[in-house]
Amino acid sequence: MQGCIFCSIASGLIPATIVYQDEDVVAFRDIHPVAPFHVLVIPRVHLASLAESTEADAALLGRLMLAARRVAHDAGFQARGYRTIVNTGADAGQSVHHLHVHVLAGKTLSWP
Ligand code: 5GP
Ligand code: ZN
Repeated sequence: MQGCIFCSIASGLIPATIVYQDEDVVAFRDIHPVAPFHVLVIPRVHLASLAESTEADAALLGRLMLAARRVAHDAGFQARGYRTIVNTGADAGQSVHHLHVHVLAGKTLSWP
């Protein structure tokens, strides 16, 4: 989608530190990390948020979560653990309106 920063990253128009990609998803370092390891996993297709997803996106949502697992494990966080977050809409603080899964690791994370 034109004007979408994450579509631009997925298509290579805007640079990012990509840590994993395949035909469905791209994973790259967050520009403002809030943990020692902070990666965003996005679908290549533009989907504004989880709220816009439907039954037709079931497989893609699965690909996103498996890619999140993969980047965390590839970075060595399988044993220590990691957190996956999907912010949806205003109250969650979603600031980029292209669905993304945050993968955070490398420190003891507080909650909420
Ligand atoms: P949200 O608040 O929507 O859940 O998360 C959006 C995330 O995207 C933020 O953590 C922010 O730092 C990250 N971000 C925004 N613009 C860019 C960018 O141009 N490049 C990268 N790598 N991350 C970005
Ligand atoms: Zn997009």
